[in-house]
Amino acid sequence: MQSRKLIRKAYRLNPACHIIVTGCYAQINPRQLADLPEVSLVFGNMEKQNIVSMLPELTPANTPGKSIAPLDKIHVADISKVKSCPDLHISSFAEHSRAFVQIQTGCDSFCSYCIIPYARGRSRSVPLNKVIEQIKDLVAHGYHEVVLTGIHIGNYGRDLNPKLTLAQLTEEILGRTKLHRLRLGSIEPLELSDELISLVTENKRICSHFHIPLQSGSDSVLKRMNRHYTADQFRRSVETIFSQDSKCAIGIDLISGFPGETEQDHMASIKLVEQLPVGYLHVFPYSKRPGTSAAIMVDQINPALAKTRAAQLREIGAKKQQQYIRRFVGTELEVVVEKARSDNSWRGISAEYIPVSFPCNDNISGKCLMVAITAVHKNGVELQAAHCN
Ligand code: SF4
Repeated sequence: MQSRKLIRKAYRLNPACHIIVTGCYAQINPRQLADLPEVSLVFGNMEKQNIVSMLPELTPANTPGKSIAPLDKIHVADISKVKSCPDLHISSFAEHSRAFVQIQTGCDSFCSYCIIPYARGRSRSVPLNKVIEQIKDLVAHGYHEVVLTGIHIGNYGRDLNPKLTLAQLTEEILGRTKLHRLRLGSIEPLELSDELISLVTENKRICSHFHIPLQSGSDSVLKRMNRHYTADQFRRSVETIFSQDSKCAIGIDLISGFPGETEQDHMASIKLVEQLPVGYLHVFPYSKRPGTSAAIMVDQINPALAKTRAAQLREIGAKKQQQYIRRFVGTELEVVVEKARSDNSWRGISAEYIPVSFPCNDNISGKCLMVAITAVHKNGVELQAAHCN
């Protein structure tokens, strides 16, 4: 609904413009979008790589949208049959000091609330040498930190020949590039192998940070979500990480108000996150995705209740985050500097994923510096350093 509103708004603002739609909605419901007279073309998630080559055909004389038959607008293939990753070699990121490298796309897990396996297809990995080339290129362009991203990066390499694991990829990156600092994107609980945990907690070139989707602390909710672990297994993984590196940033995703979630289930989530050494929480109230099995579950929760539960969890998350960041006051942290603020101060991100601000008169954008942490910023979510070294 929001996308369609935006399309109409863009057209009203400039009726001569061509509107090209892509992404998950376009992949799943191309005909719905192609039927909108304002839309000129609809590209699927794989075909969007070709948008630039199509642009010459979209001249102002070729009237936007209206003159094209809906079926001719659609460039969307069956993504479930696609076996390769989009080729996205990127050398720089505007306004970002950290670089993001996609190593994988798609997912085979079919969690009951998630549309991604239908919109992005099966799990596919970027071949090892392509990842290495991309990172070498980014290092040559001055990037100090690379974040490995994907839909389900813990599945990395299972489709390659020979097969690889995320831990092996990580070791290859460290061995074959001069990258200063590597960060792993979100990792599913079942893919936190002992090997990967040891690698992240022991190697100084890997940021001490795990982002793990828990989604619920209730086993019965996890089961209905089609997530194949228990709250206790999750607890053990987090405790293993903490026992190996008590300063590691552990971020957790949670969904509140999943269909059938009782007060008891919600309390199980609260209890679990209160007990765990969590650095931050990302909480999302459940929202129905048409086409998923959770969307047709009979016991949907009132959205207002899902929001109330999300607020309760976020409050716990905020307290946990403050407890976590306070531990670094009086220590030195390495930050990759991101941007200047209007008050002559700079903001950077530490390896522990903590925003740090500090004054500096020089242009230090993109630099990697050690800073002495003096206090928690008054906004409560950042640390402050006195100066840059
Ligand atoms: S929630 Fe994550 S693991 Fe589950 S289907 Fe979606 S992308 Fe896959």
